[in-house]
Amino acid sequence: MAFLDEHNFSGGPGVLPASVLLQVQQAILQVPELGISLLGVSHRSDWFAQVVAEAESHVRYLLNLEDDFAVLFLQGGATQQFSMVPMTFLAGSSSPADYLDTGYWSHKSLPHAACIGPMRTAWSGQARGYCDLPVRHEVDYDPRAPYMHYVSNETVEGLQFHDVPGLDSVPRVCDMSSDFLSRWVDMKRYALVYAHAQKNLGPAGVTLVLVRKSWLAQSCQTDLPDFLDYRQHMQAHSILNTPPVFAIYVVLLVLRWLRYEVGGLDKMQAINAAKAGKVYNCLERLGDDVVIHATAACRSQMNAVFHFSHPEWQQRFLDLSQRAGFIGLEGHRSVGGVRISMYNAMQPHAIDDLVEWVAEFCRLQG
Ligand SMILES: *Cc1c(COP(=O)(O)O)cnc(C)c1O
Repeated sequence: MAFLDEHNFSGGPGVLPASVLLQVQQAILQVPELGISLLGVSHRSDWFAQVVAEAESHVRYLLNLEDDFAVLFLQGGATQQFSMVPMTFLAGSSSPADYLDTGYWSHKSLPHAACIGPMRTAWSGQARGYCDLPVRHEVDYDPRAPYMHYVSNETVEGLQFHDVPGLDSVPRVCDMSSDFLSRWVDMKRYALVYAHAQKNLGPAGVTLVLVRKSWLAQSCQTDLPDFLDYRQHMQAHSILNTPPVFAIYVVLLVLRWLRYEVGGLDKMQAINAAKAGKVYNCLERLGDDVVIHATAACRSQMNAVFHFSHPEWQQRFLDLSQRAGFIGLEGHRSVGGVRISMYNAMQPHAIDDLVEWVAEFCRLQG
C-alpha cells in the first residue's frame, strides 16, 4: 500500500511512520488488548498508566537518562513551555536568564520570559536575518544566570546547533521540538529539555518535558497553579487531569518504532545525516539557481530552507510539486521560499524521489 504521506515534507505536524499509522488505524477501532476504541479508553485505566510508563521507559532508554530526570507528558505545546520555564525558574530571580535569539521560534520565547522576570538576549541573529548561529567566543554568557535558554533546531530558518552552546555551570534549557530524538544528545549537559510531539514524534497535543528533579526542588520555591507546576505533574505521573490519551498512545508507538525498528538514536542519526546530505548536495549542485538560507556550518538535518534566484520559479515549483505528489514544501510565511522537512519518519527513498524532482524542475526551467 502506498501512502501519500510518504512524500509529506511539511514542517509540522510532520510525517509519521507507515507502520505506526496502520496500528493507529486499528487502535481507533479497537485497541487489540482492550477490545474497545482508543478514543474511548479511560485515562484512569491501568492500561493507560502502563502506556505512559512504557513511553517513559523508551525515552529513558533512548537517551540513556539519569534517574534525576523526570519525564513528563504535558499539554499546551512548546508555547506553554515558553512561560512555564520562566514561571518555575525565573520568577523572583535577581539575575537575568540568558536567551539566545537565533530564529523565529527562539524569538517568540523572549517576551514570555520578559513578562515573568529579568532576562537578557545574550546573542541575536536577527540583524542578519537569522542565517547563522553563534560560535562560542561570540557570546558573553552570564555565569550567574539562573539558566540559559536556546532552541536546538530553528524549524523555520533551517538552522541547527551542531554543538552545545552555553556554560556547563549554568543550567541549560533547550527547546528541541523539531529535532528531539533525531540524533544522539548528551543529556548530562542539560537541566531541562522540552519538545512537543508534532514535528518528529507523533500528533499535536502532547509535549515531552525532561527536567532535573534536583534543580526543580532547589529552584522552584514559588506556589504555582497545579496545572502550571511541574511538581504536580510529576507526582501525578502525567495524569493530573485528562491527558491527550490518543496523542500519547501514538507517541508510544513511534518510540517503539524508533527503538525496535530503527534501532535507536545512533542509527536514526546516521539515517538523518544521509538524508540531509543528499538534499544539500542536490541544492549545491544547482549552483546559482538556488540560495540556501543557512550558512553551511549551521544547516539543519531536519529542515532545509532555500529560495530560487529566479522569483518566478517559486510558485511554479510549488504548484508542480503538489501535482507531482510532493506535499508541504512551501516555506514558512516569515522567510518564504521552499522548506524541505525531513523528520525521522521521512523515508530515504522519498528523499531520493524529491531530490530527483527538484533537479528535474530546475533543468526544465533552464
Ligand atoms: C513548531 C515549534 C514551536 C511551536 O510549538 P507549539 O506546540 O505550536 O506551541 C516551538 N518551538 C519550535 C522549535 C518549533 O519548531
